[in-house]
Formats: sequence, C-alpha cells, structure tokens
Amino acid sequence: MKPVIAVSSYIADKDVFYGYGTSGDYIKAIDGAGGIPVQLPTIKNTSDYEQVLRHMDGLLIPGGCDIAPYFFSEQPEKALGRINALIDRQEMELVRLAYDAGIPILGICRGHQVINVAFGGSLYQDIPSAMPEAIGHDQSGCKREELYHKIDIQPASYLHQIFGKDSLYVNSFHHQAVKQLGDGLKTVATAPDGVIEAIEGTGDRFVMGVQFHPENLYGIYTEFTNLFRFFVEECKKRAI
Ligand code: MN
Repeated sequence: MKPVIAVSSYIADKDVFYGYGTSGDYIKAIDGAGGIPVQLPTIKNTSDYEQVLRHMDGLLIPGGCDIAPYFFSEQPEKALGRINALIDRQEMELVRLAYDAGIPILGICRGHQVINVAFGGSLYQDIPSAMPEAIGHDQSGCKREELYHKIDIQPASYLHQIFGKDSLYVNSFHHQAVKQLGDGLKTVATAPDGVIEAIEGTGDRFVMGVQFHPENLYGIYTEFTNLFRFFVEECKKRAI
C-alpha cells in the first residue's frame, strides 16, 4: 500500500476568491517519492482532524507566512511579516494530533517553525534584526532551486543518514528561525552563523523540520530527492 500523506494548505485570501492552496512542488515530490498526497483545508473544529488523521500515514506542514508571536509569548517586532492565527492554530493542532497518533511528521520552512512552536519552543521573529551578523537567509529574487548557503549536519541524525555527508548547500527563503528549541526536539543542522536549519524529535517517533525547501530541489539533487523518499518510507511503515 502506498502511504497517504496529508499536506496542510495555506489560506488564499488575496485573490478574487477565498480558497485553500498548496504549492505544486510539495505534491509532486510526495507523488514522485511514492506517496499519495492529500490536501487538508482549514476547518471549523480542528479537533475533527483526529478523525481525518486516522486515515493518514504521514503529515507534511509546508512553507508559508510568519507565525503569530503570541503563540510563543512575545509581542510583534516591527519586522514581523504577515500572520494568520487561523492557520497557526490548525497546523499546531495537526502536529500535536499526528505526534500523539505516532504519524511521521515533516515540516518545511514555516512548517519546521510550526513544529518547534507546537512543542513549546520560540522563534526569532526576524533574523536580520535579531542577529545583525547573520549570513543571508532570504534569496528571494533567485530561482527556487538555486543553492544559497551551507549547512553542517550532526552525525547522529536521520538527516545525516539521508544526505550521507557532514555538510551541503541548501536554498533559503526565510527571515524567521528557531530560537528556543521545543521540548523533545534536537538541532540536527545549522548554518555557519548558528541559525538552526533542521530539527528532529529526540524520541522514537519520526518528526523532522527543515528550514530549507527540499521540494524545490526534488529531482534535481539526489540528496533532496532522498529526503522525500526517506519520509515516504517512514510513512509506509504505517500503511500496512
Ligand atoms: Mn537559511
């Protein structure tokens, strides 16, 4: 059986109609790696997701807007970007429910930050203001598949197992970053300036967050193709 993988949707409220969307690269990468992607819209009672997740073998939380700082007990800084508390609540509830059900979780960019906040961690609301000496983390204007900065990977991690190397270059489209790690999470990759670029769960359940965008690199670089294959294989363990 192919694993069915839920992909949270962003809320499109700027166009002519109100709707729910997911960037096609996430869908293509899951599909290409042997999973069945299913898009989840926002619903009124997020607790209903418990029922939905009974039919799912994996959860992917994609990239998107900033996270409202009151979820980690901070006031907004001037450089905070667009927020939407509805999607924050939805995605943090999905992470908690999936974790409790033992469903593998992959968070990408905003999704990586959502996992951290859902586990009780906090974020830098804006890297350039919080760390003036930081390297560039926002390559907006470059192609999505352009590799931008280096990351160093911890040896004892799923990520090291996937990439098979101690460091590599990734793309980077973020201005927020993990500050205080959530409970039950560990840092598994950092940029040369110390910015946390990947996290994993410390327990035996598969939880991974990556600050870069492997879905834009899928099918171009083996390492990032392998990341999706590995995730789909983890999800497949449940799809029996
Ligand atoms: Mn980065």
